[in-house]
Amino acid sequence: MRRVGKRVTFSPSPGGFPRGRPALIILVGVNILPDKLDGPEEPQCSSKGCRQPASWALRWNNPKLHAPDYRKTWLACDEHRVTLGNFLEVRGFLREVAPFGAASDAPLA
Ligand SMILES: [Zn+2]
Repeated sequence: MRRVGKRVTFSPSPGGFPRGRPALIILVGVNILPDKLDGPEEPQCSSKGCRQPASWALRWNNPKLHAPDYRKTWLACDEHRVTLGNFLEVRGFLREVAPFGAASDAPLA
């Protein structure tokens, strides 16, 4: 544990470098780093708290809320394609699961 109240002796000679300036330069260097290393525009999985890039689009419709031809879309990573898909399927909402993102560049079989 670092003690804040540590006694510091300043040099009385004029022209001495003020203490703390090198630390300020280091802080400026830290501040120019981006907040996030991954691109902010990459679509992410819709599952709560998941930051994985989306690779699936789950299209669904709640007949009580939506017109029959309306589709809501949830994006999902490989893992949550199953959990989100099951969530929708047990309610009878799931209509379609389609590849999303990089997978869509592949030729369709
Ligand atoms: Zn996910």
